[in-house]
Amino acid sequence: RSETNNLEAFWMPFTANRQFKQKPRMLVAAEGMHYTTDDGRQILDGTAGLWCVNAGHKRPKIVEAIQKQAAELDYAPAFQMGHPKAFELASKLAAMAPQGMDHVFFTNSGSESVETALKIALAYHRARGDAGRTRLIGRERGYHGVNFGGISVGGIVANRKSFGTLLTGVDHMRHTHDPDRNAFTRGQPEHGAEFADDLERICALHDPSTIAAVIVEPMAGSTGVLMPPKGYLERLRAICDKHGILLIFDEVITGFGRLGSPFAADHFGVTPDLITTAKGLTNGVIPMGAVLAKKEIYDAFMTGPENMIELFHGYTYSGNPIACATALATLETYQEEGLLTRAAELDGYWADALHSLRDCPNVIDIRNMGLIGAIELSPIEGAPTKRAFQAFLDAYEQGLLIRTTGDTIALSPPLIIEKSHIDFLFDTLRNVLTNLD
Ligand code: PMP
Repeated sequence: RSETNNLEAFWMPFTANRQFKQKPRMLVAAEGMHYTTDDGRQILDGTAGLWCVNAGHKRPKIVEAIQKQAAELDYAPAFQMGHPKAFELASKLAAMAPQGMDHVFFTNSGSESVETALKIALAYHRARGDAGRTRLIGRERGYHGVNFGGISVGGIVANRKSFGTLLTGVDHMRHTHDPDRNAFTRGQPEHGAEFADDLERICALHDPSTIAAVIVEPMAGSTGVLMPPKGYLERLRAICDKHGILLIFDEVITGFGRLGSPFAADHFGVTPDLITTAKGLTNGVIPMGAVLAKKEIYDAFMTGPENMIELFHGYTYSGNPIACATALATLETYQEEGLLTRAAELDGYWADALHSLRDCPNVIDIRNMGLIGAIELSPIEGAPTKRAFQAFLDAYEQGLLIRTTGDTIALSPPLIIEKSHIDFLFDTLRNVLTNLD
């Protein structure tokens, strides 16, 4: 259909976004740091799409790789067959991953990576003859995608309440964020490592030998950009080790340079047993995810009493050739342009510009780490998302795309951002916030 006015009647109502009351905001092109709208305006991408377009839009190398692969080998069955790009990508990822995480399972999204990691964790214990380890532990305010496992271990009640009992045997640790603490934090909060001891509380409630895995976002993204307190992840790792529990980092947002290192695991110096990725793996261009696993986990399947044959898991599009080619071109772009460490280089400039908004009206907290930032606004009584959403609308009118979660503005621009873009982004936001009710 060429006309856009009636789109709502066709499919918009069934997307997650029910805020298209009139004409949808339509994007028709994108390049580098900017989108073009259907009325010809340039919009600065302040969120790298949905935290995924880390190398910026329409990168020639990625476009060429897709075209070339589509003309060469468009599909290979994921089960009985292989193809060279899948092996090349797996070995590239293994080389980039934290030490020892050298096995890769391909998926098609962050949600699928989460389901895959949870299933691998359960099957790992079973393969080692420890089938009693079945409990899964998530965390309040954790976001792990929208599939059944992910919403079960996720800590967002609203995302779960329509869907019945979900997975049983799931507990949630307390979150690290103290709602009364508005600290205008740069990087990790100094205090709060003891929040990790909530895992010990859960271990005391249940026999810890029944717990298979703990899953956390090392830095919670979708629920407000919440940094882990100093020492928290280390403590979580130690408790998991003590009880033989696997630790899964959901790095769907933090993977591929967002915090200034390839993975948050590198940034925080804590190595989990499994890492889930997606988004930045293909620069958001083609759906793809990957789970990285330690060698011991892989070996358990290959040598355990009940080997891999027991575990049926995989997707029609796992390791799709075009997705693999896209990911390879993306990783090359990151490496050639130094994008995996660029967030660390820009951290000071970014943080200064972000924190300069602290005196704007209604700003109650600001947090940053790498090229990610959060501006929390005081909620309007009875309408806790209204103020931030108005900021989103006003910023869009002024040529800037931001993301909001609750009453928090979340920023995560493409890693190719220049200082002049940072200046535009925060000048625009200052103007928006100053004029907001
Ligand atoms: N885990 C985390 C930490 C995420 O941020 C997201 C998406 N925002 C997901 C999982 C789900 O990813 P997808 O939308 O690709 O399924």
